[in-house]
Amino acid sequence: MGLDDIREKIRIAELQSNRSQGSVNLIAVSKLQPYEKIEKALLAGHRGFGENRVQEAYQKWPAWKENFPNIVLHLLGPLQTNKVKDALALFDVVHSLDREKLARVFSENTQKLGRCPEIFVQVNTGEENQKAGISPTKVDDFVKECKQTYALNIVGLMCIPPINEEPALHFSLLRKLAQRNGLKRLSMGMSSDFVSAITFGSTDVRVGSAIFGQRT
Ligand SMILES: *Cc1c(COP(=O)(O)O)cnc(C)c1O
Repeated sequence: MGLDDIREKIRIAELQSNRSQGSVNLIAVSKLQPYEKIEKALLAGHRGFGENRVQEAYQKWPAWKENFPNIVLHLLGPLQTNKVKDALALFDVVHSLDREKLARVFSENTQKLGRCPEIFVQVNTGEENQKAGISPTKVDDFVKECKQTYALNIVGLMCIPPINEEPALHFSLLRKLAQRNGLKRLSMGMSSDFVSAITFGSTDVRVGSAIFGQRT
């Protein structure tokens, strides 16, 4: 498919769901993709990229950040507390805040660095044992704590729906949770379901293989 096709599909989905043009941010998920393909997207003017692992991101993005201005890097994957400092130095947006200890370490480090990234709270909408994220029943309390106790810049909620369920149910649940917590952004929708996510109000779609091809 490629970047242009995905942009076009996003534009149509915005129109069809009465969203204003450009209201959906496309995060090109570049984890495990060949460097040439990522560079092609950079040369085409794309600037928002997503990675899953801090270490992998450090292998490629510092050099590109020097050569291409205004790159916005999104951390999508689970984060260990001992990597928070490195993560904050490289990433502009974090989509995977999923536990209190991590919130505390974020808070300590953002104060030291004077740099406060935009943060999404990850919600385990399917309440799956193996999946990271705050349970939907605990989201209200957790968001409040992140803002009040830890002074974090919480901008929205993020989810990864269970593989064998209708994603729309999870998108609508996430939207409801965000609304009642006064959060404006929704990080939801991947290669297979980003159009549906947009009709449910997604502001940040995370698309990898549909842009770059299957990961190696
Ligand atoms: C890998 C990944 C994506 C992109 O997945 P595709 O199916 O390739 O679009 C999106 N979000 C997260 C959290 C991911 O880990």
